[in-house]
Amino acid sequence: MIAILSALASERDAVLQGVDVERVARKAAFRVFFGRCHGTELMVAATGIGKVSAAARTQAAIGEFGATGVIFSGVAGGIGQGVQAGDVVIATETVQHDFDCTVFGYQPGEVPRPGSLAVVSDPAYIEAARRAVGRCRWDPLPDGRSPAVHQGRILTGDQFVCSEETVARLAQTFGGLSVDMESAAVAQVCAWNEVPFLVIRAFSDTAGGDAPAAFRGLSDLASRNAAQLALATFQELR
Ligand code: SAH
Repeated sequence: MIAILSALASERDAVLQGVDVERVARKAAFRVFFGRCHGTELMVAATGIGKVSAAARTQAAIGEFGATGVIFSGVAGGIGQGVQAGDVVIATETVQHDFDCTVFGYQPGEVPRPGSLAVVSDPAYIEAARRAVGRCRWDPLPDGRSPAVHQGRILTGDQFVCSEETVARLAQTFGGLSVDMESAAVAQVCAWNEVPFLVIRAFSDTAGGDAPAAFRGLSDLASRNAAQLALATFQELR
């Protein structure tokens, strides 16, 4: 059974809008909603914010609740060239931008063992998301346009990025289209469990000085658009 995971309850609730919930299970404070989307069973849950919570809850979704695939749906700060608030990204790979063993000769973000910089999303899931884009009924952005959909590397670290200097440093060091606080942790746990995964994020902000205000204004809309694509991707995979 596929799990659609988010970090925040508000992101999860946007996913649940498209799900007929049948029961709720619990492991301590972690609540997992079981239900159906267009007749197919799935589970939906919020992991909490940051890499530790996301990793622990992803492991629980797989180990305790039997998830056999993971789609992550949430918001992020857009950082790439040509990326605008409200746009959507299908992550082809994830990097922990705050992981630093460079003093031993590793690249910035490289985890010594398993020894790779980026954790790559499942190719079939990426393909399903590409196919699903055409079926999304986007919530229009404040300026009336529909979100542009990007594909590429996304970055994760345990900080809410809200500075132009940090964005410039991250873009120069890693490239990447967005920054968030969970994706690479979810990806690594899925990879260790040999469970396919994909991350879909919509940009609540562009990680500059105005990011906290932008996040407050746009995160509900961005959550709905990320959830649209996550659910449409799920339908493609059934
Ligand atoms: N206001 C929230 C906290 C949000 S933290 C509260 O009080 O509960 C930001 C969340 O959105 C994280 O889950 C992260 O993954 C994502 N995010 C959005 N914009 C981000 C940014 N600029 N930098 C890092 N994470 C961001």
